[in-house]
Amino acid sequence: MSTTKKYSDLYSENFKDYFGNHKEVLTEIELNTDEYSINVDKIIEKLGISVEETFFDSHSGKYDADNHTMYINILESEQRQRFTKSHELGHFIFKHEGISEREQAPVANAKERAANQFAAELLMPPKLIVKAIEKMSADFSMTWEELDTLSDEIIISYLAEKLKVSRSAMKFRLMNLGVLSS
Ligand SMILES: [Zn+2]
Repeated sequence: MSTTKKYSDLYSENFKDYFGNHKEVLTEIELNTDEYSINVDKIIEKLGISVEETFFDSHSGKYDADNHTMYINILESEQRQRFTKSHELGHFIFKHEGISEREQAPVANAKERAANQFAAELLMPPKLIVKAIEKMSADFSMTWEELDTLSDEIIISYLAEKLKVSRSAMKFRLMNLGVLSS
C-alpha cells in the first residue's frame, strides 16, 4: 500500500545535471512512502565506487580518484559518516583528481566546499524536507502554522533524525534554504 517515488523526482534539474551520464542512477532508486532519508550507500554502489571503512585520527574521510575508492572514518557517528560518504561522492561527481582528504575542521578549499555543498543538496533536497515536515505535522497533530510556534531546536532535531543527518548539518541547510533565519 505504500507508493514510491523515484530519487530523480526529489532533485532539481541543475542538481541532476551534476551526475552527467550517471543520471540514470537517480531514476533507478526509489523512495518509499515511509522513507525520509537518502540511501547514499545504494547510490555509491550503483556508481561502482568502493568504500573502505577505516580509522582516522584527524580525518572524516578520503577519496582516491585514481582507484574510485572512498575511505570512511567509522569512529564517527552514522550521520557524520553518511555526510562524509556524500561529500566524497561529490569529488567523484565533480571529477576532482588525486586524493582529497576531508578534515574534521571547516576548510576554505574550493573543492572541499563544493563537495560539502553537494553532500548537503544530496542528503537534504527541499522536497524531502517538506515531506518530513508533513510527517512532523501529522505526528504532532499540528498545522504548519502551529509547528512554527515550536522552538528551532525541536524542529531541527526532528528533521535531522528523519533525514539521518547531524543536527548541525540540518541547521545549516535550513538556514541556507531560508527556512531558519537565526
Ligand atoms: Zn573532500
